[in-house]
Formats: sequence, structure tokens, C-alpha cells
Amino acid sequence: MAKGIATVLSHGGRCADQSPAFVNPPVWRGSTVLFPDLASLIGHTQAYSYGRHGTPATRALTSLLKTLDGPNTHWTAVTPSGLSAIALAIMSVAQPGGHILVADSVYGGTRSFCDGVLARMNVEVTYFDPSIGAGIADLMRPSTFAVFVETPGSQTFEMMDIPAIAEVAHAGGAVVLADNTWATPLHFRALDFGVDISIQSATKYIIGHSDALMGVISANERTWQSAATLYRQFGYNVGPDDVALALRGLRTLKLRLKDHERSALEIAAWLETRAEVARVLHPGLPSHPGHALWQRDFDGASGAFGVVLKPTSFAAVEAMFNGLELFGMGYSFGGYESLISYVETAKLRSATPWSEAGTLIRLQIGLETTEDLIADLSAGLARLSGAEGSGVL
Ligand SMILES: *Cc1c(COP(=O)(O)O)cnc(C)c1O
Repeated sequence: MAKGIATVLSHGGRCADQSPAFVNPPVWRGSTVLFPDLASLIGHTQAYSYGRHGTPATRALTSLLKTLDGPNTHWTAVTPSGLSAIALAIMSVAQPGGHILVADSVYGGTRSFCDGVLARMNVEVTYFDPSIGAGIADLMRPSTFAVFVETPGSQTFEMMDIPAIAEVAHAGGAVVLADNTWATPLHFRALDFGVDISIQSATKYIIGHSDALMGVISANERTWQSAATLYRQFGYNVGPDDVALALRGLRTLKLRLKDHERSALEIAAWLETRAEVARVLHPGLPSHPGHALWQRDFDGASGAFGVVLKPTSFAAVEAMFNGLELFGMGYSFGGYESLISYVETAKLRSATPWSEAGTLIRLQIGLETTEDLIADLSAGLARLSGAEGSGVL
């Protein structure tokens, strides 16, 4: 019988064959690997040949991550950052002179990679409305090699109909790449929904403690060989301490995600009742346009969501932000601490204009006591509405 996810997170990734007595794999520091004789040196006939190709701990980590991404996963690797995993995934399928479709709501680093590196390879990039669904058929071309999705979108939290998009993409000969950082495979197993390569910024929920950067790439049968080859050719490697931090993070991933989810949903629902707030962008709320898709495809939410404030002066937003006690100002999420960030909507998209007039903020709800976070935000909203020229009644 397949073991439950909590058991897998606890017992997977241990490498008992190399280190049977201790519960955790040791931190292997190694570039050089020695071979016992000339025949094995020339023939590379041992499991470990050079530090860049991983240590037993690296393989313990990737085998656990591969299990999480489910039975359609043929190959999983870790990279030095989430963005480097995105770059690898795209480059492993890119065709010079070809065409890629990219969701207009993607992470800014993905957009900048496409507009920079891909443009230099004469790849045409078309951004599309994240709500497009099967309508993506109208944008497919014979030269379309991939569709890049992210659900929900990084800053604006639109949900995407991945199975519908994947069906059209595959019919047209393209592969589907998904940035699955927000949900993690615990709440959305992307490769079960037609995605060919799933990417995560492990910097966020997997590491979970805001102390290291890492990416994860998982590829299916159709895509893995090209991704694995490029991984070696690019010379990617992750340091041994970061491998240990990721393994440690995974042990509590399920518990942390559930708490992020519970607290974020409570705070999101509370924010919906506030006069200063125009809209809360959280797919777990019934008011969210993507709520039905989220319910259909996802097993849960995580801790980051958006809030559109009612139009107000910049000084009022400044008064709110600058006085916060528990919410740090920063652009990450997935750590144990709460964060608030300011979304520059003018830079967000190119295919679909962002029409909300008020300031868009992103909250990352950490593991603090929910009531304390609500009190901090409540005081912040009072500063906002009390500020001169706030316009909020
Ligand atoms: C943070 C993030 C990335 C980039 O990950 P890094 O580890 O910071 O390179 C990519 N996609 C999403 C959705 C992210 O939130």
C-alpha cells in the first residue's frame, strides 16, 4: 500500500544505505571523489564520480521530492534557485526561432528571462490572459514549443484551467511547463494534470525558514532526458548545507502548509469585511473568480494572497506599511514569518491590462498567532484610513 504523505515526508530522503545509524544524512562536503583503481576511474563505474553530480544527501533529497511530484515524474533535480529551475525548464524545450505562450500573470523573473534570453534566440513570446482556458487554441502556432503557466499567478492570483490548456497544447505538439511554487505538490500535483515539467522555488515553502535559495525541477517521461542533459551541461549544483536545510524543511512541510493555509484564509476572510479593502485575491475564498477551479484541482491553499485597497493616497499606504510591527516588508513568501509587499501593477503585465484602481499589496501569512497578525493589520488599516487625503470614509 502506498504510504500517506506525512509518512513519506518523515521517512523518505534518509539515505540509510550510506548512514544507517543516524536519522539524518550527514552533510557531505565534496568536490573530489576517489576511485579505487584505474578501471573504475576510466569506466566511471561507481555511483558517485564528482561533486557536481551530487552526494548521497542530494540524491536523498531529490528522491523525496520526486515522490512528492507523483508517479508521472521521471526525473527530479535541485537547482541553485527557483529562477534557475525555470530557466533550465524553458531552455530544455526551447527551439530557436520558435514560439512560446506565457501566462500574463507569471513571476517577474520568468517574464524577464523570456524577454531577455529567449528574445536573443529569436523566440517569439506571446503573453496570454490567465483565464484563457481552452481558448488558448487561438494563440497556438505550428512553431509553438511550450506553454508556460503559473496557477495561481504570482502577484494577482488568477487561477488557470491547466487540464484544458494542456489538452490544447499537447494536441498542437507543445509541452506545458508550470511554476508550482504557491501550491507545492502537496496541494497541487501538477504532473497529474497534464503538466510536463513542474518547477518550484524551494526557497519558499520547502526550505520554509527564509535562510536559503533553491529550485526544484520535475519532468515527465516526454521531457526528462533533455532536461537532465541540460542540467549537466549547465553545471548546476546545490551546496551541501542547503541540501540539509531543504531536507529539514520537508519534514514539517505538511504541518506548516496547513497552518499557513488556515491562518491566511482566516485573515483573507476578515480583510473582505474591511471598509478600506476593495477586493481580496485568494482562490480559497468563494468570492474569487477562480474558486471553482481551485476546488476542482487543488487539495489546499498556502499562505500568500493579494489585497486590493480602495483608491487612496500613497502617503496613506505609506502610513499603513511603515508602522507594521509583525509584517516585514519583503518580496518573498513561504517562510515562517509574515511579510507584506507592494505590487507595482504598471510593470505587471502586457496582454491584459490590470484594471483595479487601488493599491495592490501581497501578504504572506507566516506561522505567528493569527489574532496578533489581524491586530497588526487592523492598526495598519486604521493608520491608512486616518491618514490625510486617504479618501477612505
Ligand atoms: C520566488 C519565486 C520564484 C523564484 O525563486 P527564487 O528561488 O527566488 O529564484 C519563481 N516563481 C515564483 C512563483 C516565486 O514566488
